[in-house]
Amino acid sequence: MRKFSPDWFRQQFPALHKPYCYLDSAATSLRPQVMIEATQAYYQNGGTVHRSHYSQAKEATERYEACRQQVAQLINAAEANQIIWTRGSTESINLVAQAWLAHQLQPGDEILVSEAEHHANLLPWLMLAEQTGAKVVRWPLSPQGELEVDELALRLTARTRLLAVTQMSNVTGYVPPMAEIIALAHQAGVPVLVDGAQGIVHQPTDVQRWDADFYVFSAHKLYGPTGIGVLYARKDRLAEMRPTQGGGKIISHVDFDGYRLLSAPWCFEPGTPNIAGVIGLASALGFHQSVDWQAAEAWTCQLADYAAEQLAALPGITLFRAAGSPIISFVFESLHSADLFTLISEHNVALRVGQHCAQPLMQALGVQGTLRASFAAYNTYDDVEKLVRAVTFAYQLLT
Ligand code: PLP
Repeated sequence: MRKFSPDWFRQQFPALHKPYCYLDSAATSLRPQVMIEATQAYYQNGGTVHRSHYSQAKEATERYEACRQQVAQLINAAEANQIIWTRGSTESINLVAQAWLAHQLQPGDEILVSEAEHHANLLPWLMLAEQTGAKVVRWPLSPQGELEVDELALRLTARTRLLAVTQMSNVTGYVPPMAEIIALAHQAGVPVLVDGAQGIVHQPTDVQRWDADFYVFSAHKLYGPTGIGVLYARKDRLAEMRPTQGGGKIISHVDFDGYRLLSAPWCFEPGTPNIAGVIGLASALGFHQSVDWQAAEAWTCQLADYAAEQLAALPGITLFRAAGSPIISFVFESLHSADLFTLISEHNVALRVGQHCAQPLMQALGVQGTLRASFAAYNTYDDVEKLVRAVTFAYQLLT
């Protein structure tokens, strides 16, 4: 494993070879050259998966399947065939809703969803509730913006069929006490889906230690390509899932009287898949494993701490940030975040503004929207200074 060096790490990202203050990694990360090359090499060679025996197709199939093992290792899944490829976290959650929960729900059943969730972990449940007569129940945040286990205990009922909760908030970087949450839900007989879209990037993840029923993440936030994601399911949950889409590659036999499905994960992956996406993810994971991730993460949080300290000194600012988080959301009293954002963007500082696909969380925080700076290990102290300069400039111009 390579010792973490901020300079070396940054050089691996071609987008940063020109001046670019990129502080929007929670939306999507930049990509290392090695990942871009792996994807390109696949397109140069061609070949599909699972169908043919010519050498390019064999190689593509081997790499495609080997990546399941890499993901299994990353999250400590017991077996590679517990990894289903999807288009991203959003599709993974929708797949759990439709392939696992839909056929079990009765009117009046409850789906418990935390108030910290991204819309990707709320809308699939609201839609499923509409479809089935079930209801979505809110697990509210405390005034400190935390998910309390005592409060959870009050919301788990005999009708709760699932708890959906994030590993890390995409707005504040808050990390709920997952092991405790899952243990409590399981005591009440309630399965848990963990949205790892942000958490996988910043935390070691062990789905077996947690005993998570479902875990999802997207490759594009973890230095991989867009359009490829992961659904992990515990073996018993996998056995309870029913494919929701038919197509090529998911059956061993079909005629006009019926069909015999392949086993999981293949029965959930109809059609020609995102082969380049999986091969790119394999390369991104290889890159990830080659770096001392603890040191990279420590650097990221050190930068975010420094940025939070500098921003906190500005008049009229409120920060929404869990301690040590790589994500900082902030607002200024009596100023519109969108106005600030326009001026900040003129300084070539890439932030995000708005509700961050988390409207219930915005309501809980009592804001219309926020500015958000999110850090990754390729950022520098210079980026922090540019951010603070741009924010100060925007603030001064508007007041
Ligand atoms: N969950 C969280 C916490 C997120 O931050 C995001 C994306 O920002 C998602 C889910 C959805 O991920 P994707 O758009 O890759 O499906």
